[in-house]
Amino acid sequence: MKSIPYGRQHIDDSDIQSVIGVLQSDWLTQGKTIDCFEEKVAEYCGVKYAVAVSSATAALHIACLSIGLGEGDILWTVPNTFVASANCARYCGAEVDFVDIDPKTYNMSVSALEEKLALAKKNGKLPKAIIPVHFSGQSCDMEAISALASANHIMVVEDAAHAIGAEYRGQQVGSCKYSDMTVFSFHPVKIITTGEGGMVLTNRKDLYDSLRRLRSHGITRESELLVNESQGDWYYEQLELGYHYRMTDIQAALGISQLDRLPEFLKRRRELATQYDQLLAGLPLVLPYQSADGQSSYHLYPVQVDSTKTNLSRKDVFDALRKAGVNVQVHYIPVYQQPYYRALGFTEGYCSNAEAYYAQCISLPMYYSLSDEQQSYIVDVLKNIFAAVGAGPKPESKTCV
Ligand SMILES: *Cc1c(COP(=O)(O)O)cnc(C)c1O
Repeated sequence: MKSIPYGRQHIDDSDIQSVIGVLQSDWLTQGKTIDCFEEKVAEYCGVKYAVAVSSATAALHIACLSIGLGEGDILWTVPNTFVASANCARYCGAEVDFVDIDPKTYNMSVSALEEKLALAKKNGKLPKAIIPVHFSGQSCDMEAISALASANHIMVVEDAAHAIGAEYRGQQVGSCKYSDMTVFSFHPVKIITTGEGGMVLTNRKDLYDSLRRLRSHGITRESELLVNESQGDWYYEQLELGYHYRMTDIQAALGISQLDRLPEFLKRRRELATQYDQLLAGLPLVLPYQSADGQSSYHLYPVQVDSTKTNLSRKDVFDALRKAGVNVQVHYIPVYQQPYYRALGFTEGYCSNAEAYYAQCISLPMYYSLSDEQQSYIVDVLKNIFAAVGAGPKPESKTCV
């Protein structure tokens, strides 16, 4: 049997036709298809501006640059994320620090944030920006995070790499109602794809102008932004040090057709999540919690091997699933446990909830084309793994006194 991945893209004929259309046109990059993709995503999310870039990593980088993050500044994110959410601050020469997660939602803990802010305020070390991450597709408690941030004049950038299509308090994630900017990823394992790609959304015109320049060498041609008088139609000015982070029109064409299919993708992901919830009930697993505040886009379906209910470790269960052709993954090794961050001084135990979660988590396969048959196979494999050892409560360990 072919192995089942934890995530994968779905490309159909409408996607292929959309890309072919651009290949047959005059503009492979820097054409109108990019503008069209940006407008469509902005409209879907209910936000004013969108800037498409080459990856979410690039998006996070220029988001940080656009708010002037630099040396001497501090950025806070969570450890339960991909390294890119923290690296973006390092690219700008800023320091990174980590706020622990909530053990129930696996997202940034509001109480941990509140405590850490109070301490930072006392020490004069408040961050310039916070990057909450909507882990697995479930929105963070943005209303609370935004209130704490604005009370301390801190900028908020949502890392929504997992969360296009997710909802929070009646808004689409990406509306930026509770943040300065939101970032999406269009990597093939994410909800919709452009091959590689990302986007920054904002309601702020000043950030929008800056983001557009930063993705293209810091160059502008817009007359109202020029420092000097235009010398002719060829004229442009480089106003700051930008990058080459553009998306191609070929990618944007794929993005447009994928966005059209987003409702269908979300429907299936949510259906699969509901089915997992039902099929896995009773096993020694902690199933993902859905907050009543919104609706997840289910980029991931993360479970925890419940160490209070089984003797099997996460590694035991992970290895057994892999052996049965179920290509599960682990999201995430706490970022500060990476050697690069260790070398910056972070130590074991820094965020105990993120570490406890990491010790037990496994992401089960979750993607649009995962069939009901494949899902029952995965569930059967899990049932067999636990049946083989007995899934009853872990026996009390005897201690010698
Ligand atoms: C995938 C991912 C990124 C980076 O996305 P790219 O488009 O691959 O650069 C950033 N943050 C999170 C949480 C991610 O999952």
